[in-house]
Amino acid sequence: MKKIILLGAQGSGKSTQSQLIADTLKIKKLSSSGLLKTVVAQETELGKKIKDLMLEGSLIPDSLMIDLFLEELAKGEYSGGFLLDGFPRNLIQAEALDKKFKIDRVLNLEISDLEAVERISGRRICKNGHVFHIKYNPSQDKDFCDKCGEKLYQREDDKPEAVSRRLKIYRETTTKLLDYYKKQNKLVIFDGSLSISEISKNILSYLRQYAGQENTTRN
Ligand SMILES: [Zn+2]
Repeated sequence: MKKIILLGAQGSGKSTQSQLIADTLKIKKLSSSGLLKTVVAQETELGKKIKDLMLEGSLIPDSLMIDLFLEELAKGEYSGGFLLDGFPRNLIQAEALDKKFKIDRVLNLEISDLEAVERISGRRICKNGHVFHIKYNPSQDKDFCDKCGEKLYQREDDKPEAVSRRLKIYRETTTKLLDYYKKQNKLVIFDGSLSISEISKNILSYLRQYAGQENTTRN
């Protein structure tokens, strides 16, 4: 099992789990935010175009995302396998990916809208970028950052209305994506409402079990 896609709404702890999965399977992680950041930093024509789109808050067109990812994944460093986070985002992107690579499994961290809103809207940050959560990781200094003493605040993007709006869009596009992978028998669902360490435990036990099966088949 070397080519994996990780899906999950905001607040499902996707980025934490993606590192764990990549480390466990010894495959390379590639996230859409990471790839876009790299391309923007290169300051090429393409990089400038993407930067403008991001500043406008516009979505990056499917064709562009597909080209970027397929080009990146063709590099030798991904020949041992990869874990994708943030791509494919919709059916068009998934179909384009399938034409080039045989995806082994799609892991979905399932979380309810209610839970996602609670997790994200509880976030507080200071101007130096230290992040806290009023429930899961509160600052010792309550309204102030206990690392640098700056006042804590809630980002506009983290307010419940903004989170709900993004979740609605996310659900609309991923429902079809989940159906698509389910039909291919590749979809594995994990309960994303558990604590981060419990989710990690479940993912690890699945990966070990799966790796075991693979060995049995080969012998
Ligand atoms: Zn701080």
